[in-house]
Amino acid sequence: MPFTAKVVTAAEWGARPPEPGTFPFQRTIPRYVIVHHTDNPNPPNDASRGTIEGALRLARNIQTSHMDERGWSDSGHNFLNTTGGFVLEGRHGSLDAVKQGFCIQSAHAKQDPGKLANGNQSPGIENEGNFMTFQIGQKQWQSLVELCASLCDSCTISPLNIKGHRDFSNTNCPGDLLYNQLPRLRKQVADRLNLQFTPEELENESPLVDIKFGSTGLAVITLQQRLRDLGFNPGAVDGVFGENTKAAVKAFQLSVGLQDDGIVGSNTRTKLELS
Ligand SMILES: [Zn+2]
Repeated sequence: MPFTAKVVTAAEWGARPPEPGTFPFQRTIPRYVIVHHTDNPNPPNDASRGTIEGALRLARNIQTSHMDERGWSDSGHNFLNTTGGFVLEGRHGSLDAVKQGFCIQSAHAKQDPGKLANGNQSPGIENEGNFMTFQIGQKQWQSLVELCASLCDSCTISPLNIKGHRDFSNTNCPGDLLYNQLPRLRKQVADRLNLQFTPEELENESPLVDIKFGSTGLAVITLQQRLRDLGFNPGAVDGVFGENTKAAVKAFQLSVGLQDDGIVGSNTRTKLELS
């Protein structure tokens, strides 16, 4: 398919030039598409108010914050997707690069120990909002699907490699409710590209993701059932990692000689025999 996503370029939204001496940025071969949230307020208090004017303003504000507060050479992400479904280029050169099958090295996905590597060599999409407790709206979802399909096609990235920021870094980004939608996102992108995958392949939950206080979903249900089977009471098997589940994890960790941090990382996962 052609690159159908409509993207406002950095020049069009009036981006500042990158830090002197840093441009043009290095081109990389992308392997993933990485989904983020901006951690901004959700509708009706969203920063962009769902308008194009608001979207341009948000792109400028994020770039200013990344350059002046974080000290980065330009916007840290490659693309921004706002609540109104407007997509804007982040780091300069990103749109031209992906249309030619490359990415621009950026700064959106620091690698933490035990996580996936080289995230900054793949396109990162910031989605306006905070999806820990809020479900992404329809317009923003459609533009995300369109952008992901365009990126996967032009850069030959498998839709199964659409990942969340938390697969690379110790963060709750892009929020539980958006992270839990990644299988549906992979499916809709695969459909656009006429690719077929099994539900298991689409689920593709990274075994590297920590399960911890605040986590939700199928992985937490599996964990809670396992703890209960082993005689550690996590409270209700409800898919919500709360205080009771944390206490049960800590008790389990102590029983097997692990540090009792209450976080189900790779060591605890292995001891629990969770796949
Ligand atoms: Zn992120």
